[in-house]
Parts: sequence; C-alpha cells; structure tokens
Amino acid sequence: MTEIILIVEDEPSLREALAYSLKKEGYGVEAVGDGRAALVVARKLKPDLIVLDIMLPELDGFEVARILRKEMSAAILMLTARDDEIDRVVGLEVGADDYLTKPFSMRELIARVKAQLRRTRLLKEEMHKPDERVAHEILTFENLSIDLTRHEVTLSAKIVQLKPKEYELLLFFAEHRRQMLSRELILERVWGWGYIGDSRTVDVHVRWLRQKIETDAADPKRIVTVRGGGYRFEG
Ligand code: CA
Repeated sequence: MTEIILIVEDEPSLREALAYSLKKEGYGVEAVGDGRAALVVARKLKPDLIVLDIMLPELDGFEVARILRKEMSAAILMLTARDDEIDRVVGLEVGADDYLTKPFSMRELIARVKAQLRRTRLLKEEMHKPDERVAHEILTFENLSIDLTRHEVTLSAKIVQLKPKEYELLLFFAEHRRQMLSRELILERVWGWGYIGDSRTVDVHVRWLRQKIETDAADPKRIVTVRGGGYRFEG
C-alpha cells in the first residue's frame, strides 16, 4: 500500500522540491501552502505522515499540529527555522515525532521520513497481531502495568494514553529497571542509530512521560534524574 505524505510549506520552491523528492521515493504526495489548507487536506487524505513547516500563513505549524494530533495518528515531522523552537516542537503542546532544522538536505529529510514510517508500520503490525499467537506478557510495577502484547499501559487499572515514542521509552526503562541510563544510550536505543537528535529530545519525552505515570511529576519517584548522568527507572 502506498504511504501518503502531506507537505505543508509556504515557500513554493521548497514545497516543490519536497514533493518531487518524496514522489520519486514512491510515496503518494499532496502539498499545500498554508495552515488552513493543511487541516482541510489532512482530514480528507488521512496521511501517514505530515511534513509541517512552522512559520505558515493562516495558522502556524504549532497550531496545525496541535489540532491534527487530536484527530489522527499521522506521524508529524516538523521543519523549524530556529533553534529556540525545538523545545516547543518536541514538547507536550505539539508533540512532533521528529524535526529538522532548516537548512537540511533532501537526503536527510528522506532518511527521517523513512525511519518514521518504518516505526509507525512496525507498531501497527504488532498491534494487529492476533492475540492467540502470543500469550499476554505483562510487566507490573505496583499500580503501573505494561501489556507487551496490547501495547497498553495502565495506571491503577486506568488506561494511560501514550504516544508510540513514549511507550517505547517507558518499555526501555522497564526492561532496564534500576539501571542508570544515559541520555545518549536512551537516544540510541529508543530513537535508533539513524536519529540525529540531541538529548533535549529525551528530556522532553521523560518530562512528558512523568506527567502521565508519576503521582507528582514535579517530584518523580518512578523515573528519577541521575545528576550528571541520565535517568533511572525505579519501578
Ligand atoms: Ca515558512
């Protein structure tokens, strides 16, 4: 099945270059030039991935991502022009799956798109495995349970809504309980070798995860910060 990518970029030459390169890779591509058109087309198209510029006419990329994240599961790859936007891009409000800072090479963009779509595909496949094939394996830490078969996390028997990356991060912690895990190691294992992000990505996702699984995110007991080192999952 052809995967569908929506490009949202107001700069015509970049928009065309992106569309051209991604079509050449075999993806189904639509491209629009402003935030309002992005909402309309995304709702109609249900893309697998959205390449989303931040500075856009009508609605900016932050707003578009915030709205669409609630409506669909498309992966979001944001294009930022400034370093000081990155915290917001990977933060709670926007929650982009990945980002690239302008200027970037087409080769780099395509690598990121492929990595992102591969992850989404694997996760979907695993979720759709028939239950009888695998016995439910569940990791339990007091009132927190991770169902490895269903990819479902519950806290005091209530389902916790986690994004795919948060789930992977939690699972990585759970499988390495009480071990000090450096940001670099986490980045490498959870985001993958090909990921060229920085450790802020890990920090933001940890902050995010804490808000969902800690009793008091400001005083975390499950995922503790190791000064000068990284993080340790206490269970
Ligand atoms: Ca722009």
